[in-house]
Amino acid sequence: MSRSILLAEIMHETNTFNRTPTVRADFDTRYYLTGDEIPQRLRDTNTEIWGVLTEAGNLGWSVTHPLAASASPSGPMAAGDWDEVKDLILAPLRNGRCFDGIILIMHGSMVTATTDDAEGDLLEAARSLAGPSCPIIVTLDMHANVSRRMVDASTLMLAYRTYPHVDQFERGRHAIRLLKRILDEGLQPVQHFLRRPMMDAADHGQTASGPMPQLLALADEIETDPDVLCASIQIGFPWSDVPDIGPSVIVTGTGNNDTAVQAHAERLMEAVWQSRAETTLAFPGPNEAIAEAMAGKPGEAPLILADFADNPAGGAYGDSPNLLRHMLQAGLVNAAFATISDPEAVQIARTAGEGATIDVALGGKGAPDLTPPLETRAKVLKLNGGTFVCEGPMWKGVAFSMGPTAVLGIEGVEVVVSSVPTAVMDPQVFRSVGIEPSGKTTIGLKSRNHFKAAYEPIARKVMLVDAGGIASMQLNTLTYHKIPRPIWPLDAD
Ligand SMILES: [Zn+2]
Repeated sequence: MSRSILLAEIMHETNTFNRTPTVRADFDTRYYLTGDEIPQRLRDTNTEIWGVLTEAGNLGWSVTHPLAASASPSGPMAAGDWDEVKDLILAPLRNGRCFDGIILIMHGSMVTATTDDAEGDLLEAARSLAGPSCPIIVTLDMHANVSRRMVDASTLMLAYRTYPHVDQFERGRHAIRLLKRILDEGLQPVQHFLRRPMMDAADHGQTASGPMPQLLALADEIETDPDVLCASIQIGFPWSDVPDIGPSVIVTGTGNNDTAVQAHAERLMEAVWQSRAETTLAFPGPNEAIAEAMAGKPGEAPLILADFADNPAGGAYGDSPNLLRHMLQAGLVNAAFATISDPEAVQIARTAGEGATIDVALGGKGAPDLTPPLETRAKVLKLNGGTFVCEGPMWKGVAFSMGPTAVLGIEGVEVVVSSVPTAVMDPQVFRSVGIEPSGKTTIGLKSRNHFKAAYEPIARKVMLVDAGGIASMQLNTLTYHKIPRPIWPLDAD
């Protein structure tokens, strides 16, 4: 039977400790597409949208798709821009259109200037317009902080099952297949949602090793029960000061045998709770990193120190000089660092010109209490426009811009200072400004995971270094006001 559905995406992971608002223009780094632009631009991509559209084509369903929008992680979205998103997505419903079902693609950890629960806000509005019987299916990022409000306003929610996330297409296709089953069988699904007082669990969701593969296997086993439509694990996003923080599970039943389905949810939640302290990654502090750097010998491949606690891809400012400060205090030579985001310092360097010496308070403007500026004297080694084309393997051929850029020489370290927060994934961040990373003894860079594809092959070793910042694994260094207490790991069990 031909069906008509509403499909929309708004995807943003909000680090509430980042005080810089996310605005419409920030979506230009990924996409903000309406109407026909969506299938044109996202054709053949590994996205939920394309998964839904592909399967809808196979089924002969008609799809109304008002908006597909995705931005990099950053601070809460500005109020007016959030209103625009809601208006675009809800317009077909407000115009009185009736749909057999709705599929919304959302992160699950989005915060705006007006709500700590953007997904709940949007879902509630959609539910009131669509009526109680219209199925609303939601795909979530694995790092969703799910609220009771989201559950109450939706019919079925399912999160990614991979981290790094590579199953977006598959989850989109699975969402529409579940919708088809609900419609064809006239089901009244019931979502059994559980959360425990914790901020993180299951190795932050890594699916290559650690507890997550076993948890997903348990979810698979639960899904073999004919009364279960879907078993979903959300690992939560800890850098968000919201009441609904933390890992959760949702087991959605067909509406039959609710007691057994609830028992599945309790078993799955208990397994997630038991996994909370298991980690496969180490996050040493700067002293350990510097000791490793001091052991490096001239001519060796570089040691890569990933300053992940200030990683812009985790919503952080990308302006912390904490790790750089340790590198300078240790007197490292033949070292490089990228990037410190500081448009004012770039302007000072441009005014002084290449070859000049400047005194500058570098970085540290975003969270000066955690990551204060570096007061230093520096030589302006190079100035340029900051654009480069990635050489891969990730984003190969894609052009990026870090805004007007300066390379400052500070003692034995060449520092790439950008005008916009820039996570370091590609060697071109260095090469485009005349620094050959493979020739350095020590490199500091802002990243957590993505840098490995390009940098591991040229490194003698990589270390994830927690030098402080608003994406630190030391959650007790951040000041939370809205999360429930007591909560693991801030409070004793
Ligand atoms: Zn995620």
